[in-house]
Amino acid sequence: RKKIAILTSGGDSQGMSACVRAVVRTAIHYGCDAFAVYEGYEGLVRGGSEYIRKMAWEDVRGWLSEGGTKIGTARCAAFREREGRLTAAMNLVTEGIDALVVCGGDGSLTGADRFRQEWPSLMEELLKTRRITSEQLKGHEHLTIVGTVGSIDNDMALTDSTIGAYSSLDRIIEMVDYIDSTAMSHSRAFVVEVMGRHCGWLALLAGIATEADYAFLPERAKSPLVWEKELLEICEHHRKQGKRKTVVIVAEGAIDNELKPITPEIVKDLLVEKLGLDTRITTLGHVQRGGTAVAFDRILATMQGVDAVRCILESTPATPSYIIGVKENNVCRFPLMESVQITQSVAEAIKNHDFDLAMSLRDSEFSD
Ligand code: ADP
Repeated sequence: RKKIAILTSGGDSQGMSACVRAVVRTAIHYGCDAFAVYEGYEGLVRGGSEYIRKMAWEDVRGWLSEGGTKIGTARCAAFREREGRLTAAMNLVTEGIDALVVCGGDGSLTGADRFRQEWPSLMEELLKTRRITSEQLKGHEHLTIVGTVGSIDNDMALTDSTIGAYSSLDRIIEMVDYIDSTAMSHSRAFVVEVMGRHCGWLALLAGIATEADYAFLPERAKSPLVWEKELLEICEHHRKQGKRKTVVIVAEGAIDNELKPITPEIVKDLLVEKLGLDTRITTLGHVQRGGTAVAFDRILATMQGVDAVRCILESTPATPSYIIGVKENNVCRFPLMESVQITQSVAEAIKNHDFDLAMSLRDSEFSD
């Protein structure tokens, strides 16, 4: 009887609970035992029944519509060290678990792949130091890892969308709509900062969906001379046409062509000084991660959770670790490390101001 565990790790996102529900129930459907590891890798390192819990069908009832992650998430320094991963491996073997679904961002998935690669040497060390018996090791010579991407940033390469991105976008749009009515009443300008780290997906789509006047994206860094002129001309033009509100979206990772951050304060000062607009800053902050998952994320998390279990049941020691993603509305499997490496190269290229490279990397297809 196969024992499959799921954990959520890194930054939380809407739909993670739906993913846990799907993995637990699909595992049970296929006659496996399902486990949830609470508090991400921290729970794996701490071990014991408080953190590694066997899940029944009804334990995840109602989780489809819950926001965040019901099994907790954490950042865990210990798991970055071999000693921490050794303890985590011992805790898994003690429970008889040999397959792990990790729902998280690129950091969490990198950790997962490292864990899988190290597994044979971790087993060897545990056996040598007598922390596990050869009896316990039987059937656990390999660890199967499958990733599902939970992130509001939609920053993972190869997959079209990550679990939580559309819910976060929805939160942003709702908040900007609220701001709109007061902006219109007072004829004010609002500079709205949105999350997304090095990825401008949330800022770009929020800009389109809220008919913002201007959006600053990490991928479109321009010299101050250029963006200042553009911003002022566009906002002024809209005002002359009778628009009573001005909305500018600033991605948290927005930079100029010299890699200097473009902050909401810089933009506000310019709108006040050059256009005389009564300007306020709104930093949306953690409301962007909050609330329940929109329909798309519930469906995405469910379909990916189902396929994650199928992927585990079909995998052999020779197959690489996969992430379950989505491409043109089809759930797909991508090699985990290829996806993580491209994602990290994109972030690096943006930091180095090589936007053409970043864009072509983002558009890359899985090289099967
Ligand atoms: P995200 O998954 O959202 O990108 P982080 O980068 O903070 O978030 O990673 C979450 C956790 O994953 C870390 O706290 C750590 O426990 C684990 N992790 C990240 N990178 C590695 C790594 N290179 N090796 C081992 N564990 C890692």
